[in-house]
Amino acid sequence: MDFSIDEPSRKLVNELDDRFLRGIASRAPVTDEVGAIPPENWREIAQSDYARLFHPASVGGLGADGVTQAMAMERLARACPSTFWSATMSVLVCAKLIHTYGDAEHHGRLLEPLLRFERLACFPVVENTSGSDASTYTTAVRRDADGYVITGEKSRITNATTADLGVVLARFEEHEYGWCYAFVDLRQDGVRTYRMHDLGLRGMPWGGIVFNRARIGVRDVVPVRLEEFPHGMAWGWLFISIAAIAIAQNALDASIAHARSHKAFGRPLIHMDRVQEAIAEMRTQIDAARLLAYRCAWHRAEGRLAQDLVGMLKPYATEMAVRATQHAVQIHGAWGLTHGYPVERMYRDAPMNVIGGFASNRLRELVAQDLGLPTPYQDFDWLKATGLDVDCAVHPGALLSAGR
Ligand SMILES: Cc1cc2nc3c(=O)[nH]c(=O)nc-3n(C[C@H](O)[C@H](O)[C@H](O)COP(=O)(O)OP(=O)(O)OC[C@H]3O[C@@H](n4cnc5c(N)ncnc54)[C@H](O)[C@@H]3O)c2cc1C
Repeated sequence: MDFSIDEPSRKLVNELDDRFLRGIASRAPVTDEVGAIPPENWREIAQSDYARLFHPASVGGLGADGVTQAMAMERLARACPSTFWSATMSVLVCAKLIHTYGDAEHHGRLLEPLLRFERLACFPVVENTSGSDASTYTTAVRRDADGYVITGEKSRITNATTADLGVVLARFEEHEYGWCYAFVDLRQDGVRTYRMHDLGLRGMPWGGIVFNRARIGVRDVVPVRLEEFPHGMAWGWLFISIAAIAIAQNALDASIAHARSHKAFGRPLIHMDRVQEAIAEMRTQIDAARLLAYRCAWHRAEGRLAQDLVGMLKPYATEMAVRATQHAVQIHGAWGLTHGYPVERMYRDAPMNVIGGFASNRLRELVAQDLGLPTPYQDFDWLKATGLDVDCAVHPGALLSAGR
């Protein structure tokens, strides 16, 4: 497997890097502070080829190879992870879903304005109950006299308050598949959105969407089998992992710079063996995660699901970034916990990637099942298996009184 990219692709990635570092990166602190992505960021991304990288020429894209896509994503994520999340959710995840499930009319009407950043999309899946468990979702599309309407509430959604278009996963009982993707215009009376405030990625507009009999055109409801859901999500797991790798790389660079310029006990921090050990561990694990990300991107761009690879990448890369930012805080001492210091922002941003897009533990189960291990919970009652049902029946409240 060859992860080198050709000269035109390298030139493109370097141009994006230059552009993003000059503008978007310099505004990352204020993006976090204010909790909103500045309009200049959108202008700069729209003027670049970022969105076009991910798509074929038939819809106005450049059809870049997977590794070029991954490198370009890392450049934007290093500049500002909030902007990266918001933009990539729209032009990669939502646009891929419209490309895959829509027809030529959808491509012209819905996809192309997204690639020009004239419109922004979101991917509302999760509801107020367990996010990883689709059986708890109740949002549904139903037919009425004029077409279709959607009712329900999605929560903790990227771009909830700023998106123009929702690619919504909803129940669709009139069809044998039972589920659909509904392309919903979010600028209509039947839609209300609200902002939720998060620990990290604060610039990213995160929140809830309430559909109250919001209207959907007949051709904008596409039946889908739930088993196909990972096809779309795999793009999400890939871009979230790249956000994590970018944060970890920023944490590593900041740690080296700080350790070179600060002294304790008469010597620069960089001479201390535990500091070097942390730096070596960060570098090794970032490299391992990045190589796995390139491998995933390569397969995805070749049209393969690669669910096993992406399922391994997401927990590994996102949890690695949390450890990397912990090392960075340790190396920075109290500066690393001081509001306004870049490492403090990285420390808050990193855990968002662990949870966002699907809980890591569920992905680990998918990886285990891919090896032929049994599906957990089948015919398994944890109360009975541990004998807790007997304790609870004989001594109701026993667990509470034991202080457990
Ligand atoms: C930054 C960010 C952006 C997001 N953007 C979107 C978006 O655009 N669209 C959208 O639909 N949602 C979005 N979400 C929501 C996200 O997808 C959910 O938070 C995620 O799926 C996890 O769901 P949950 O938070 O309800 O936790 P749960 O799924 O309830 O999990 C809670 C805990 O249980 C564990 N767990 C769950 N299942 C298992 C299992 N089978 N085995 C072992 N442990 C398990 C988890 O690891 C976790 O520790 C976003 C979340 C974040 C943080």
